[in-house]
Amino acid sequence: YFDVSKPWLNRVIERSEKLTLKAVDGVGFSIRRGETLSLVGESGCGKSTVARLVVGLYGLTRGKLVFDGEDISDLAGRTGRQAASVRKRFQMIFQDPYASLNPLWRVGTIIGEPLRFFRPEMSSTDRRRRVGELLEQVGLSAPDANRYPHEFSGGQRQRISIARALANEPEFMICDEPTSALDVSVQAQILNLMRDLQDEYGLTYLFISHDMAVVKHMSDRIAVMYLGRIAEIAPADQLFENPHHPYSKMLLAAVPSLEGVGKERTVIQGEVPNPVHPPTGCAFHPRCPHANERCKAEVPRLIARSDGSEVACHGVEEGRLP
Ligand code: SF4
Ligand code: MG
Repeated sequence: YFDVSKPWLNRVIERSEKLTLKAVDGVGFSIRRGETLSLVGESGCGKSTVARLVVGLYGLTRGKLVFDGEDISDLAGRTGRQAASVRKRFQMIFQDPYASLNPLWRVGTIIGEPLRFFRPEMSSTDRRRRVGELLEQVGLSAPDANRYPHEFSGGQRQRISIARALANEPEFMICDEPTSALDVSVQAQILNLMRDLQDEYGLTYLFISHDMAVVKHMSDRIAVMYLGRIAEIAPADQLFENPHHPYSKMLLAAVPSLEGVGKERTVIQGEVPNPVHPPTGCAFHPRCPHANERCKAEVPRLIARSDGSEVACHGVEEGRLP
C-alpha cells in the first residue's frame, strides 16, 4: 500500500511536478470495470508515469482523474483517512518484486502489513488466517508465511507481492511490467494467475508492458503510447488484426507467439527521441515513412473510427493511410 505521509514519497511527488508535464501530455483514456487496458510502448514513452499518476504517486499538473465517479485529481496531495478511502481500492504491482518486499520481514508480516494499516480492528488471529488464505490463492501455502523473501524464487516472490496486493480486496490493480524480470517459463504462470484472480474477484487491470506477446495474452483493450502521448487505442483483437497508426504497425511487425514470450523482442527502426524535447508536430514523424509537412507542424489528435479504435495520425485521418 502507499502511505503518502512518508517523507520519501512526498519528495517523489515534489520532484515529479517538473517531470510529469514533460513525460505525459494529453493522455486521455477510460478503463471499464472488470477489463484489462494495457499501455504499451518503448521505454521512455511515459507508460510508467501514467501508472504513477493514476495511483497518486505523482501529482497531476493539469487534467483530471476520476475513479468510480469520484474526482481524485488531488489524490497525490491527500493524506490520512481521506487518502486511505481511495487508496485501499487500488493496488500496484511492480516489475521487481524483490525491491518491494522488505528482506528483514517474514512473508506473513509483509502480506499482513496492508491489513494492519487499513483494517486496524482485525485481530492478529484473523489476520494470520487471512494471510494463509492469500498465500493459497496465489499458489503458495500457509506455512510459507514464516519464511523470508530470499528463500523464494523470482516467480514465487511475485506471487507474494500479488498476495499482498490482494490483501484488502482491491478493485483496481495497476501492474507495471509485472513479469519482465522473470524467466520466460515463469512469465506465463504469473500472467495466468493474474487472469484467474481477475475472473474470480472481478478485478480491473491497468497493465503496463513493452512486450507485445504479454500484452496480447492479457488485454481487452490496448493503448499504444509514443513519447508521452497515445498514438492509438483499440480493442486488443482489432489492434493485432488491423493496426492503423504507423507506430502500432511497427510495434506489431515482429510479435512473437506466447510460447516465445520474452525470447524475441520487437526491433524498431530509428532511435526514440528524447522525451523531454519531443519532435514538433507528430512526435513520430522522424521515424515515420509517411510523414509530410503537416505531420512536422501539427500535433495529431486522437480521432474515433467506426471500427472501435481511436487513432492520432494525420495520414489515417486524411485517408492516405488505411
Ligand atoms: Fe506518420 Fe504523420 Fe501519422 Fe505521424 S501523423 S504517424 S508522421 S503519417
Ligand atoms: Mg517503465
